[in-house]
Order: sequence, then structure tokens, then C-alpha cells
Amino acid sequence: MPEGSRRLIRAGRLVDVLAGEVLEDRLVVVEGDRIAAVERDTGAARGPEVVDLSGAIVLPGLIDCHAHLVGEVETGHGYAHLVQRTGAQEALAGVRNAREMLLAGFTTVRDVGTFRAFVDVALRDAIEAGDVLGPRMRCAGAYVTSPGGGGDITGLAPDVAEALPRELRFGVVRSPEEVRAVVREILHRGADLIKVIATGAVLTEGTEPGAPELTEAEIRAAVEEAANHGAHVAAHAHGAEGILRAIRAGVRSIEHGSLIDEAGIELLAQTGTYLVADVWNGDWIEEQGRRLGWSAEVLRKNAETTEAQREGFACALKAGVRIAFGTDSGVFPHRLAARQFAVMARLGMGPMEVIRSATSVAAELLGWGDRVGAVAPGRYADLIAVEGDPLADVDALTEVAFVMKGGEVVKDLAGAAGAR
Ligand SMILES: [Zn+2]
Repeated sequence: MPEGSRRLIRAGRLVDVLAGEVLEDRLVVVEGDRIAAVERDTGAARGPEVVDLSGAIVLPGLIDCHAHLVGEVETGHGYAHLVQRTGAQEALAGVRNAREMLLAGFTTVRDVGTFRAFVDVALRDAIEAGDVLGPRMRCAGAYVTSPGGGGDITGLAPDVAEALPRELRFGVVRSPEEVRAVVREILHRGADLIKVIATGAVLTEGTEPGAPELTEAEIRAAVEEAANHGAHVAAHAHGAEGILRAIRAGVRSIEHGSLIDEAGIELLAQTGTYLVADVWNGDWIEEQGRRLGWSAEVLRKNAETTEAQREGFACALKAGVRIAFGTDSGVFPHRLAARQFAVMARLGMGPMEVIRSATSVAAELLGWGDRVGAVAPGRYADLIAVEGDPLADVDALTEVAFVMKGGEVVKDLAGAAGAR
């Protein structure tokens, strides 16, 4: 949308996530890419700049705090096959994924890692330049991981793995000193945050989710070095010990948190560390994995973490832990990310709380509380509309009818994509 242009959005109902209430008949005034004002709609506004959403519910654009936009959607056969893909192929798959994610209503994502280092950064920049249609991105650049750990490419002969191009193993570290050096380099190359792989992973063959893979000193080195550059650390951590180490080391968020124990929940609540738990995709892996013949190891680890994670989530919710919405989109097709909302509601979150986790709370986690996460003056004009009522059933968010990003309509009520 050109600088200085103006749009008036007529919202039949508007979800004010900051106040936690639904307002009727509001007029959202958009100037350029920002929201200028939210006023009572007197019905007087007329003209081509009016966007009529009077029959819909308007919400802030959604935020997925745990997305992977780069590369093919998960195949369930380990990561060794990545040596058959070029960086260009990974990037172009990312273009498709970014578009899908945006049209599903996600106007911002925190992209928590790619095996092909810095392709996410290039995608972010292409989106910002207006060359590619996609959400605003905050990027991790690469995985900081132990050799053979959850963020490494496993399943190759050790000598072959050693000979891989550096961008396929950019963040492999063996000591706190190496962590400091690689964190500096990742941020220097344009990443916004650091992702550490504190434990084994469900989808990385040869690693166990319960097993710690980085020392507390290594994670702390990442936190300190990131802080020097104003960046935060997201810790992939399934097992209880790895979770404790990461929280004590000062990470901003625990990703997955599947096998969290009471001590971990207590420490999350006490420190205000965010929990980003991908509580839906276990069902997807179970269903697709069985159908498509994913490896027995992956299916076993998925079974061992799915229900345990949901129990931990429910306990964390009761304990007052800050929970931000994150799905691990990329494990499944990005257009399905909103399916997680219903699982969170089932686990005890009220509808407004669910919506806040993917808007205002997510924005705080990203450090972007001043620019996204609410339909409020000064923030980007990132908003969506749904025809169902998400306050009655959060599953209504799986059918997003309208998407505006930065004042530009990218999906209209008839469901067609914008004029790109
Ligand atoms: Zn992930």
C-alpha cells in the first residue's frame, strides 16, 4: 500500500485482545501500513477506501511463534535426504510456504530454524522488500546444536557428515567457546534470534527427546552472547533435565516442553520464561506417519511425547505459565497451523486466552509488542476477519476469510488472493 494512503475498515465486531473484550461496530482507520485510530462506527463512512467487514469478526493478524517456513514439509524419513536438495530448492519451497501461512491468517511468524543456514534470512528480506508474499518473520538463521544432536543432519556416515558444506552444519558446536563464536556469526549474518537444541528431537533420527544435548554452560554462553546483540534465545527442549538447564541459563522460551516435570513448570512460572508447546502436530504425525510409512523410530518418539506434552501444557496453564502459540508448522502443511487452537481450548484455555496467546502474548515474546499483536493505534495494520465466532469456538480460526498485512489486502472476503 502506498505511503500516506488511507483505508477505513468497518468491523461488525472487533476483538480487543489488550482489553480482553469484543467491541461492536468499530471503524479501524488505516494510514499507510499502520493503524491510525479505532473509532465507533457511525455508519457515515463511504467511498472506495471503505473495507466492509460489518458481517464478520475482526482480529489482529495471527502469530505462530514456532514455524519453519524454509524447505519441504516434513517427510518423516530423517534429515539425511537434505543433501539431495539445493539451497535454491529450499528457498523456493519457502516462498510457497510463506504465502500459504499468510493466507491462513498468520501475518507474523518466529521462524525457529532451517537446516540450510540463512535461507530464512533471505526469505525474510524478500518478503520485507515486497518481492514475496508472506508473513513478517523473525529468524533463527541456523540451529545451535551438538554434533549428532537434534539440530544436526544425522543418518550419514560420519566422514560424509564431516565433509558437508558449512551451511548444512553451521551451528554445530562442541564447547561454550564455540557457542559464543557461532552465535556471533549467526547474528552477524542477519538472524534475529538464536535457537539452541537443548535435547534430542522427535524427528531427528538417532537422538532421544529426553536426553540433554547441551550443557548449561553452553546454553548460558548462547544467552549471554545473544543478549550482547539484543537478541533472545529459544530452546528446543523436550526432556525435563534439558528444560531445567535452559530455563536456568536464561532462555526466553522453551519450545515443545514435552516431558516437563513439576520443577520445570514451577521454574517457568517463577521466571516468566515462555512455553511454546506444539500440542497439535503429534496427531498429524501419528495419522500421516502411519499412512505414509514414516520410520518406526519417529512414530515411537512421537507417541512418547504427544500426550505427555498435553498433560504438561494443562499443568503449566494452571500454574500461570506464560504460553505463546507455536505449532511447528513445516512438520505439517502451513495452511493447517490454526488447527492447534482447538487442542489448546480442550486443554483448558478459554477462547480469549487462546487468541491472546497467538496475538498479544506472542508479540511480547517476539519483542514486538509495539508493532504487532493487537488492532491498536501505532501498530501495523495486520488484521484478519472470520465469519464464524472464535469466542464461541476457536476452531473458527481455521477458516480465515480476510487478511490484511501492513494495510494491504492480501485475501478478500470471497477468498481470492490479492492483486499480486
Ligand atoms: Zn520446530
